[in-house]
Amino acid sequence: MNRLGPRVLAASLSVLLLLAVCGVLIIQELRRSDAATAHVMRDYARALLEGQFHEALTRATGEAAAYVQSGNEDFRQEAIDALERAQRAVASLRKLVEEGAAIPGDHSQVVQLEGQESLLRQSQAGIGRAIEAMSAGGGADIRLLLSQVYSSEEPAELLGQATAANHQREQAENERALYEHSQRVRWLVAASATVLAIWFGLLVAYVRRRIVGPLATLSGLAASVADGDLTVTAPVTHSDEIGELQLGFNRMVSELAARRRQRNELVEHLSQARGEAEAASRAKSAFLANVSHEIRTPMNGVVATLDLMHESAPNVEQRDLADLARIAARNLLWMVNDLLDFTRIEAGKLELRSMSFDLRDLVTRTVELHARRGAAKGVAVICDVAADVPARAWGDPVRLGQVLQNLLDNAIKFTAHGAIGVAVSVDRRQPVGAGSEPAADAPFWLLVRVTDSGIGIPESARRRIFRPFEQVQRAGSPSDGGMGIGLSIARELTLLMGGQIGFESAVGKGSTFYFTVGLLPDKACSEPAPAPAEERRLPAGGRVLLAEDNPASREVLARMLERRGLRVTTATNGREALAVASSEPLDLVLMDCKMPDMDGFTAMRSIRSLPGAAARVTIVALTAYGLIGEKQEYLDAGFDDLVSKPYTVEEIEDVLHRWLLRPAGAEDEAPAD
Ligand code: ADP
Repeated sequence: MNRLGPRVLAASLSVLLLLAVCGVLIIQELRRSDAATAHVMRDYARALLEGQFHEALTRATGEAAAYVQSGNEDFRQEAIDALERAQRAVASLRKLVEEGAAIPGDHSQVVQLEGQESLLRQSQAGIGRAIEAMSAGGGADIRLLLSQVYSSEEPAELLGQATAANHQREQAENERALYEHSQRVRWLVAASATVLAIWFGLLVAYVRRRIVGPLATLSGLAASVADGDLTVTAPVTHSDEIGELQLGFNRMVSELAARRRQRNELVEHLSQARGEAEAASRAKSAFLANVSHEIRTPMNGVVATLDLMHESAPNVEQRDLADLARIAARNLLWMVNDLLDFTRIEAGKLELRSMSFDLRDLVTRTVELHARRGAAKGVAVICDVAADVPARAWGDPVRLGQVLQNLLDNAIKFTAHGAIGVAVSVDRRQPVGAGSEPAADAPFWLLVRVTDSGIGIPESARRRIFRPFEQVQRAGSPSDGGMGIGLSIARELTLLMGGQIGFESAVGKGSTFYFTVGLLPDKACSEPAPAPAEERRLPAGGRVLLAEDNPASREVLARMLERRGLRVTTATNGREALAVASSEPLDLVLMDCKMPDMDGFTAMRSIRSLPGAAARVTIVALTAYGLIGEKQEYLDAGFDDLVSKPYTVEEIEDVLHRWLLRPAGAEDEAPAD
């Protein structure tokens, strides 16, 4: 559809046609004016020739009269020449009249010309006869000759007057004609200019009304749309392209409004779904935390009881049985811990700590622990820590130990005979940070390799085993009892510590798992490594308050403490614990966090606000909330330390040694777990 173009084109063509007509008329008028001007010029030429004619005749008459009177031949010749000039002038006048000098329909010039020709003939005849008579000699009558010479004088005068009158009339006519032409030209030019001006004005008004106006309206509406107002509608005022544009604009706005509605619905839907997903995730976390608490609380009793049974077994058989039960319980504990770690990683809540720790001791103790389990299977575990591995370092010892334990667990689990080697070194190929010669306190990469002579891992499983809940299916092999998340947790932990993990393996020959982690050497710390727990003796008669609502846990832990020579006071809730702490001098408080009546947090804060030394007693939190109970939160709240349930004898002993053997006045420091 194209309606706007033809209309404007038609209007423009009409105006152009009008202008062309005006142009043609102007040209015609100019031509006429030119013709009139030429006519005037010819009139002037004629007047000149007529003047010459009369002057020649007058001269011829005068010269002829002088000749008649004097007989001088010069006068005769002059008279003849003058007559010839008059003849030539008449000939030229005829030519002019014949070329169209006369105004069409006006015969006065022809009549006048004929008069002049007749006058010329008359003069030629009179003067000719007088000259001939004189030339013949013989005493001609001079008076008669003179009368012949002057015979044309009177008609010449009459003709001269008529000619002058005629010229005046022609001049007046010519002036009028010229004036009329120029008037008509002026009028036509003015008319053309007026048409042009009107057309231009109309065009401007048309463009403003038909194009600029609607476009300005659309532009304003487009600005509103750009500002987010999708309720605007363009008025459809035209049925041409502009109308199409207005309709198109309205369609576009309604399309945008529909899309915005859809998007808003989608966003609402998505945020609802996200809210539901977050609620589900929170529910899962809460569920896991609760399940963990529920599992850890009885597990606490089980592990601690088994530890006690193991310690106090009357014979080897009972001791072995207790040991078996302890191993099973600890495996179960590992699984619960792994699940919690996995959930923490999934929720992005797993945070690394940074503390100074004995790196060599951490490695050797972890290997020693597993060496006992390996020995039970007949598999030797050999550890080699390179000389350049710093004694102490800054990092997260718990997570570093966890990765090593996981690899050692797998190595022992999947190795039936042979040996397992643990090699710890500083990876010089991967300096942390720039510089070829690292400074003594520069960060370094610790490289740990665990090599076993076990069943190996098939090539097909290579890509899968670091994924969560992936296990290698081996024909004929019973399940290894794991959940398939150990390696995925180890991978996440090494990544968090800035390193990486990998393995090489050959089926039937064994595997080598290796990982790197970035650590800082702790040169400044000259504190000697604490002596192994067994070598340290607790002060006899140390006073410990144990606040625990679970009777089994309370009973078992109290006995464990008493067996180590400590004096134990028990409380079943926070209120009782506060009463004991405010009335008795204490060396240590072991405070369960979740207790009825008054919980551990409230009790701890109340103890901290007691007057005097009672407020400064060491308070260690016992908690089963592995997921939400991040250690730093407990320390920030005011506890001195934290033991996660279910705890082992070694963990309780560690805490006792850490806090009861502390030199008086020693600064509080973040203890190694
Ligand atoms: P799980 O807790 O079940 O052991 P992991 O994630 O630790 O899970 O290991 C995944 C799988 O990788 C294991 O099921 C096992 O088949 C295989 N695997 C891991 N380490 C070894 C190893 N040293 N030798 C042979 N197979 C191994």
